[in-house]
Amino acid sequence: MSGTTLLKETGPREVFCGLTSIVWLHRRMPDAFFLVVGSRTCAHLIQSAAGVMIFAEPRFGTAILEERDLAGLADAHEELDRVVKNLLKRRPEIRTLFLVGSCPSEVIKIDLARAAERLTAQFNGQVTILNYSGSGIETTFTQGEDGALKALIPLMPSSKEDKLLLAGTLANPVEDRLKTIFNRLGIKNIDSFPPRQSTELPSIGPGTKVLLAQPYLTDTARELKDRGCEILQAPFPLGVEGSKLWIEAAANAFNIKKELVSSTLEPLILRAQKALKPYIEQLSGKKLFLLPESQLEIPLARFLSNECGMELVEVGIPYLNREMMRTELELLPEKTRIIEGQHVEKQLDRVRESNPDLVVCGMGLANPLEAEGISTKWSIEMVFSPIHGIDQASDLAELFARPLHRHNLLSHKELETA
Ligand code: SF4
Repeated sequence: MSGTTLLKETGPREVFCGLTSIVWLHRRMPDAFFLVVGSRTCAHLIQSAAGVMIFAEPRFGTAILEERDLAGLADAHEELDRVVKNLLKRRPEIRTLFLVGSCPSEVIKIDLARAAERLTAQFNGQVTILNYSGSGIETTFTQGEDGALKALIPLMPSSKEDKLLLAGTLANPVEDRLKTIFNRLGIKNIDSFPPRQSTELPSIGPGTKVLLAQPYLTDTARELKDRGCEILQAPFPLGVEGSKLWIEAAANAFNIKKELVSSTLEPLILRAQKALKPYIEQLSGKKLFLLPESQLEIPLARFLSNECGMELVEVGIPYLNREMMRTELELLPEKTRIIEGQHVEKQLDRVRESNPDLVVCGMGLANPLEAEGISTKWSIEMVFSPIHGIDQASDLAELFARPLHRHNLLSHKELETA
């Protein structure tokens, strides 16, 4: 491990909860429905996070716990059964229904695992009903995906065939592109998890080599390992360096000749490095502070430092899985300061003291910091943008160059009007 400084901090947190992941999961698996068992606050969060998406029929909803449920005066299980029956009667095309736990459902201890079992039996194979927690008490927003994938693993058939499994939601065009590269290397048997339909779950077993596309799948990786899969050790496919090493990890596991790997990747790398150049000019030497929210912070810090020349002031991360992050940590510059967990007040004090050029943070902190003249980037944008792979490196850099460019324009305007 490189000489990074790893510290822990606890205290008040400022992060989105795991319900947010429904926004990209329901796009990925259009035959699934996500029913949040929660409060009006949860309904508002999902509505506003996903409000820009227009479907003939939404693929998520909230079974709202009313005061009578919260006070224990009503049987929440009976109410839930009624809501689920009505939903499935109206929407017979739903193949997988996720009951998603929230802070209120956890506080009043509704056993959603039992409810999912009972309802699956009642619907007799017509629909699979699963549960996971998106509660803000337990999760940060990307952990919602980890919970949903973990819930699907017991349904995945077993097989011994040799295959590559890409785990973690990727934008469809990015996933197609990465599969094309693997095909060119001679790796043909590739599955994705989650699949594009919830009913098309790939088989897994001792021949499955897993490449994690996202750094927040701690529980999913553990369960896949328990089913006999091999988790390949690699950085995450962000930027040229991370994506190259990620692809090479799969190539090594499938004994692909090094010459074929380099002749396939070299032209892509050269093109990506050329496209990165104008952004390196804008980002190089700028001070970057990452507050913890998405779990993508370490791979982003590695890319922005190693490939774009940014200076890392502090890298916050909600939780640190050392095994999963081992290769990423080795690639970080010496003495990078990594803080696991959060005490938001202390962290904001450090932001102000260090006067960074750019802060990566949650939406709730961005506006106050902008009002203080500090440029920000929303972490949540990273999970909605197609940023994975060698080809996307310049798009990823552009996401960080944009707020700096805007800040420059605004400062010039202020000078002109002064
Ligand atoms: S799950 Fe908790 S944190 Fe998330 S919206 Fe509902 S009440 Fe808020």
